[in-house]
Amino acid sequence: SKEILEKQQRNESAIVSYSKQIPIAIKRAKGAIIEDEDGNHYIDFFSLAGVVNVGHCNDFVLEYVREQQDKLIHALDFPTENKVALIEKILNLLSPDVRDEFKVAFTGPSGSDAVEAAIKLARMFTGRQGVIAFQGSYHGMTSGALSATSNTSLRSGLGALVPDIHFIPYSYCYRCPFDLQKDTCRLQCVQYFRSLLENPHSGIAKPAAIILEPVQGEGGVVIPHDGFLEGIVQVAREHNIVVIFDEIQAGFFRTGKFLSSQHAGVVPDIYTMSKGIGGVGFPLAAIVYHQRIEKWSSGKHIGTFRGNQVSIAAGNGAFDFVAQTSLPDHVLRMESLLRDRLEQLQRRMPFIGEVRGRGLFFGIEYVKDKNSKEPDSDIVRKIRLLCFKKGLLFEIGGHYNNVIRFLPPLVITPALIERAMAIFEEVNLSLSG
Ligand code: PMP
Repeated sequence: SKEILEKQQRNESAIVSYSKQIPIAIKRAKGAIIEDEDGNHYIDFFSLAGVVNVGHCNDFVLEYVREQQDKLIHALDFPTENKVALIEKILNLLSPDVRDEFKVAFTGPSGSDAVEAAIKLARMFTGRQGVIAFQGSYHGMTSGALSATSNTSLRSGLGALVPDIHFIPYSYCYRCPFDLQKDTCRLQCVQYFRSLLENPHSGIAKPAAIILEPVQGEGGVVIPHDGFLEGIVQVAREHNIVVIFDEIQAGFFRTGKFLSSQHAGVVPDIYTMSKGIGGVGFPLAAIVYHQRIEKWSSGKHIGTFRGNQVSIAAGNGAFDFVAQTSLPDHVLRMESLLRDRLEQLQRRMPFIGEVRGRGLFFGIEYVKDKNSKEPDSDIVRKIRLLCFKKGLLFEIGGHYNNVIRFLPPLVITPALIERAMAIFEEVNLSLSG
């Protein structure tokens, strides 16, 4: 590992980030286990950025890949049996009352491409410019997607990106931006959105779109208040504003349903999808949108790599794997195992302020004190380092970088959850003084 890391440091851009936090060179990975070049094994508790939901190098999916790669790899945007099959699978998993009204566009290899396409389509449809996004959001690194990403440090020194993007408070009940209580707040966060649109002195021109993650990912696995998504969609509809749900991280069964917004039973105008839909890590991204906003015509949004056939085959394999193994049921069982262990730990630890999760998507928020809720990002970094040394890998995030994020591959077994939690508990206890 050391030799490879040194070569990386010499020749690869300093922009690389994960290996700065977790200094390993990866040799191979299977299921939820990563092996480094020195033969060390690690439990991957973040699916390498929420991608390998069906597990690293899933054999079932790799069969589809092998068969496809001998047949056809690049087909531009010509139709193939492979592609129409994946489109059908995606549409069939939408809510039955709307699935016939939606269309799929493959937008390029990365999630950011899908976000760009979604914002562009909303602007073309409405003829308006502005976009409302949320504090704590992450939508990607290309200009449009970065403009809708709230972390100002990611944009510093860049000057003007895409104009007319405004950030409003997310429904982050543990730290309610309006300082209200969960059961009596009357969804002030939705009322705030309404007032921006209806108050002539809000200073904001009517936007084209509102973009949100139905569960904030990088923002610290923030699960919004019941009624929040419904409220936002309702207000947006009243004002003819396009709603974009970014399901790039929260989708593909991460929360136990195909899309995280399906827990609320609410449907936007555009979904963005990526990460898990490429099966075992093949790059693929799409927008799935309601025909009523179909404003672009043939050739209005083109690109060379919009649906590589191997990525699409891997996607077909991943959807079939989920169906054949009843993976969502497994997710629910693993969710309750993990939740129990984390809640037990929270009761013992003075510095775990909140444990929140849905499916296999958990955020553990660390504070200096449970009453003041002062964020503690130092302890989170310490815990990550100590866990890494014991063979457990995960990401951190959150509005204040004080949240440990668990997104294991959905195929994780009870035995591996046990091993991961044993490490995690030991490290937490060792720091509790
Ligand atoms: N949206 C969300 C919600 C994400 O989590 C990410 C990636 N973390 C993106 C968009 C951007 O995807 P990509 O890195 O593939 O461009």
